[in-house]
Amino acid sequence: MRYKSILLFGAPGSGKGTQGKILGTVPGFFHSATGDIFRSLDLQSEMGRTFWEYAGRGQLVPDELTVKVWKQFIKGMEMVNQFHPESEILILDGIPRTVKQAQLLEDTIDVVKVIHLVCNDMTKMIERLRRRALKENRFDDANDVVIRKRLEVYERDSAPVLDYYPPEKIVRIEATMSQISVLTEILKILVPLKEEMDGAREHKDPFEVIQSTTAAAMALAATTAE
Ligand code: ADP
Repeated sequence: MRYKSILLFGAPGSGKGTQGKILGTVPGFFHSATGDIFRSLDLQSEMGRTFWEYAGRGQLVPDELTVKVWKQFIKGMEMVNQFHPESEILILDGIPRTVKQAQLLEDTIDVVKVIHLVCNDMTKMIERLRRRALKENRFDDANDVVIRKRLEVYERDSAPVLDYYPPEKIVRIEATMSQISVLTEILKILVPLKEEMDGAREHKDPFEVIQSTTAAAMALAATTAE
């Protein structure tokens, strides 16, 4: 099953993380932020060290590795019953960040909308990144050289992702508005999608549900019998 997903997209400092965190608290949505997943890795591990090597220079972690880590994370969340793809919409924050990643994820995610947080005011974004670096101990945003590099990488490698998805899936929201206004605009898009998803589940043929539940129970019985 491909996960029904919304992609929160925008330059570093555009507010994706803030909005993603709020949306993740709403029942029916699951927020996954690649930056947070990477930062939670053990610094002694090879993957943790690789992450800091790239992030510390304002660069992206290589595509194959990023997608591998993310797929492992989301599968894990599903297995421990934190993420329920049948009933929840996945809020993707920070992935896919390159066209290659979008291609590698094609078999796993079904991106129904791309929410593009647009911010043309470079100074404002840099200011936000500096403030966040202080507040959240984000070493990758601690100096201006790294910040500029990150914005440059966004323009070069990430912005083309917007051309990868069909234009009718892309919604532009002005990121310089207040947080609550941005949230309101996002919810205007998400609420109908969620209701449609719930409606489709409710109207599912009851026979089909019984059939799939029975199949799952039999598969489980088979594994425990082994
Ligand atoms: P921001 O929210 O400021 O855009 P993140 O917290 O999402 O930044 O990411 C921090 C760092 O983690 C990035 O600079 C990059 O090194 C790495 N990273 C996060 N997501 C990805 C990704 N999809 N592909 C490659 N590297 C990533």
